[in-house]
Amino acid sequence: MAQTKKILVVEDESHLAKGLQFNLEREGYEVVVADDGKAALQCMREQTFDLMILDLMLPKMGGLEVAKNIRETDTRFPILMLSAKSTEEDRATGLEAGADDYLAKPFHLPELLLRVKGILRRWEWYKQPIQGQENFHFGKMWIDFATGKAKGCSGEFLLTAKEALVMKLLISKKGEVVTREDLLETVWGYDRETETRTVDNFIARLRKHFEKKPQKPQFIVTVREKGYQFNPDS
Ligand code: CA
Repeated sequence: MAQTKKILVVEDESHLAKGLQFNLEREGYEVVVADDGKAALQCMREQTFDLMILDLMLPKMGGLEVAKNIRETDTRFPILMLSAKSTEEDRATGLEAGADDYLAKPFHLPELLLRVKGILRRWEWYKQPIQGQENFHFGKMWIDFATGKAKGCSGEFLLTAKEALVMKLLISKKGEVVTREDLLETVWGYDRETETRTVDNFIARLRKHFEKKPQKPQFIVTVREKGYQFNPDS
């Protein structure tokens, strides 16, 4: 049987927190509620979670600060951000601060449960080693998927959660064409709000890390009108 997933709900409006807890528990998740930002970080230090549902507006420490704080030591822990602000700018800020996904309030419960399921599924997939290897080498570069650490052209660095997911998909399908739609579905989990341009931006970032000449990529090549292809031995 699959292990019970443990979710930290960070929400100061108690009726909403209770509703989330009730419904997530009914889906079979274990739920802990923190009602301010500092309490959330305290919970993170003391317990192990699979996902955090994080409200943006919180007493003591706001959601953005909580997310940034977590990202300082863990680039991969899944965060679903909730916010009453729903402008495109707020969404971008939330995702920039390290949220994996973003949902505007008021949201529909089935939508939230779907996002939760999607994020957990993506991370379950991510945690599977590629051909039994946690460490993947190509050229003089390497990626340690267990820690998110990598070595690129300018030395060692930490991949963000999404960058690691993109690389994982490209590498697990090395030598094959991976379409933008494949990347959107596997890495972002939904395609309604994320544009294919987002994928291209991530590829550009990854080329800066791993390609000596990002304009003339050796490993992550463009396949015209189709997508991208990873060639580790080129
Ligand atoms: Ca709030």
